[in-house]
Formats: sequence, C-alpha cells, structure tokens
Amino acid sequence: MNPLIGIDLGGTKIEVAVLNHHGQVLYRHRQPTPVGDYRATVRCVADMVSLCIQEQQMAQPQAIGMAIPGCLDPTSQKVRGANSVVLNGKPLQADLQDLLQCTVHMENDANCLAVSEAVDGAAQGLSVVFAVILGTGCGGGWAFNGQAWRGQHGLAGEWGHNPLPWLGGQDHPARECWCGQTACLETWLCGPGLVADHEAHSGQSSSPPEIVAAMRAGQLQALSTWRRYVDRLARALAQIINTMDPDAVVLGGGLSQIPEIYTQVTPLLERHTFSRPIRTPIRPAMHGDASGVRGAAWLAR
Ligand SMILES: [Zn+2]
Repeated sequence: MNPLIGIDLGGTKIEVAVLNHHGQVLYRHRQPTPVGDYRATVRCVADMVSLCIQEQQMAQPQAIGMAIPGCLDPTSQKVRGANSVVLNGKPLQADLQDLLQCTVHMENDANCLAVSEAVDGAAQGLSVVFAVILGTGCGGGWAFNGQAWRGQHGLAGEWGHNPLPWLGGQDHPARECWCGQTACLETWLCGPGLVADHEAHSGQSSSPPEIVAAMRAGQLQALSTWRRYVDRLARALAQIINTMDPDAVVLGGGLSQIPEIYTQVTPLLERHTFSRPIRTPIRPAMHGDASGVRGAAWLAR
C-alpha cells in the first residue's frame, strides 16, 4: 500500500509528513509559511508535497490529507474562519487539487488532532473523542469512530466561540473576541487569554511559562490566576460532557503540556455535570504537535 501523505498548514509553519499504514513516520519536513501571500502559500505546499514524493520515491498519490486553520465552507468550498486570514474566501482545496492532480481531503486542525489521537494516540480505539487545542487560539474538534466530524455547516468544533458558562464573580472583565462576540471561551482559555487574565487581576504582564513557574513557586497572584484558569476549563469541558458525553477529551497546543491541568481539572468537572461520578478521561495528546499532520495523513486513507 502506498504510504499516506499529510500536510499541516499553520499560521507560522507548513509541515509535510509521510506515514505508513502502521502510523510510523517515514518522512517529515517543515518550512515557514509565506507571510500574507495566498499564492505563495499554495505554491509552497505543492512544492513540499512534490519534493516529498520525489525523495520517498513514491507513486503519485490518489489522495492526500490536509489540516487547515478554519474550515471549508460547505456551500462555497472556500476557506472560512481561518486566523491565517489570507486563506479566508480562497478555494484552497480546488487550487491544490489542480496543482497536485490528486484529491486533497481537508479538515480543521482540531478535527485532525481528534482523528490522530483517536486512531493511534491518547484516545486510541475510543468511539467519540473531543479534542481541544489550547494554544494561541482555542479550537475544538470531533472524531467519531476515527473519522472527523464537521457538521452540516462545518461548525461542529467551534467550541471556543461559545461563551464561558456558569459565570462567577471573578469572570470579568469579559473581553471581546476577534470573531465579533464577547467572552468567548477562546478569550479565557488560549495562551493570550491566560496572560490577559493574569494582567487584569495582578497588574503584571507575564508569559504563560512565567505564570506557571510563579504558580509552582507559590506566588499568590499566580496561584489565583491558575485556579481561575483550571476552573474555567473545567466548566467549559463539563458543558461538552453534558452535551455529547464523549469517551475521552484530548488536549493539544502549548498549554496542554502543563501537567497540573490533568490533576486539577478532572475533580472540578462534577460540580457542573448533570450526574456523577464522571469518568471521562482528559489526556494530553500523545503525538504532541505532530498530531495535526498525522491526523491529516489519516484523512487520506
Ligand atoms: Zn469568539
């Protein structure tokens, strides 16, 4: 069987990987994403795929998979909702299929994370998997039986643009989100959201690693910031459990690497779930930042 080619198109880097059908990585290559230039981005992706086919001495693939920020609008088939705004409104799938002469299966990057972890990662073999990216943004994605689920409008993973539930006295000031709404989960749970909340309550401008280091050192304001963060994450995930009751939740992105999340969020879930006990495993992505490109490759199966 021909190996599988996956592409992860991110705001700062493009990654191409080749997997065999056992999930072993045969080839991996990264390049910076051309800044603010759609044509150059398309050309860069096509060149990287061609180079990988050549170097791996592969037959021309019939299909490849691709993770993108945002999604394809089901009506126009153009990119929508990408924080790499140069992609929005562009027929990325059609343009790449023309250049590469093969089918390009395209999915939101959080959906690819869910697929990757459901197929052979932290949620291997589980039927209903919710994946969250806690990074510079906050995305959600679903995999059902190892397949990405996007919903009829491509909206199934847009968890990050629901408002924070079960508001308490410390949940202010609410911030406006780039999407046009106010108090979206993304504004609280992404890295810049953590930084902004810490600054609003302490007056100190610190990076997420600095806040975590200060929390571990017992610094009171950092401890308070961290308690608010895990409490908000628990509330946001309890709402997902009340809605879909997934078999597992997998976390990716930079903040997902903070081990305290996994010991502290789980005990907080039951305050807001409709029944208890809650056994939903919350796990870090096994494949780390390779989950996007791996999930993309599995789309090509
Ligand atoms: Zn929003």
